[in-house]
Amino acid sequence: MKKRTVLITGSSSGIGLALATRFAQQGYNLILNGIEPTAPQNALELAHQFNCDYLFEPADMRQPEAIRNFVQAGIDRFGSIDVLIANAGIQYVSPIEQFPEEKWNDILSINLSAAFHLAKAVWPGMKEQRFGRIIHMASAHGLTASPFKSAYVASKHGLIGLTKALALEGAEYNITVNAICPGYVHTPIVENQLADQMKAHHMTREEVIEKVMLAKQAVKEFVSVDLIVDMVMLLADERSSTITGTALSVDGGWTAA
Ligand code: NAD
Repeated sequence: MKKRTVLITGSSSGIGLALATRFAQQGYNLILNGIEPTAPQNALELAHQFNCDYLFEPADMRQPEAIRNFVQAGIDRFGSIDVLIANAGIQYVSPIEQFPEEKWNDILSINLSAAFHLAKAVWPGMKEQRFGRIIHMASAHGLTASPFKSAYVASKHGLIGLTKALALEGAEYNITVNAICPGYVHTPIVENQLADQMKAHHMTREEVIEKVMLAKQAVKEFVSVDLIVDMVMLLADERSSTITGTALSVDGGWTAA
């Protein structure tokens, strides 16, 4: 059977890195991305470790043209893209009055518009081969809100809307489109918030985790990265053709309340 190819944005850190590692273990061709200076070397080492063919590009998810070129480079290299994971995302926390406009624009571009440009670019190939698995890394904040996260909440709600619309368009071509909605997962995006919250609330690390971060989750534990990866692997599977248009919560009961 032909080797499958996965494209993962923001694969240089946190959830994206764990995804890249699992897909590498499963023998996929890897199309990787991320903006940290160490990202190219890390991608090289990952591919060597698992003996995978790979392509890395530091495509900026704020730039539609960079996104199109990145996808085209992946298609030129591997012939097709079977699984697309729009995972790159950023956060910024501020009351609306002080919320910088450039942060709003960046968050909407990276967390939402990039998923549109990526899907548009992979669509013709997936349609032609009558197979595609598109997975959007949304958030519990795609289903519910918290104060001071206006851009992030708006972007993730939008991403779930995009997921539903594309699922309907893709159905007749065996292209499924789903969103995963994690609660708090302990990755660098959360670690950075921890330090800020400790200062803002004059709390210890443990207090911030329990009383601020996990306050809304019924299960007072971080969601494990491995569990998110397991969900993605299920959605990426050929047998998952009837799971489409969903927003799958993995949030310790946060959105059940
Ligand atoms: P992370 O900060 O560890 O990783 C973010 C990734 O995005 C990095 O690889 C980074 O290089 C990439 N990135 C940032 N800006 C980019 C840009 N302009 N162009 C290309 N790549 C860029 O974060 P994470 O926790 O692994 O988050 C991954 C996804 O999961 C995000 O979409 C995030 O919103 C979502 N999510 C995370 C949590 C959580 O608690 N960690 C919860 C819900 C949803």
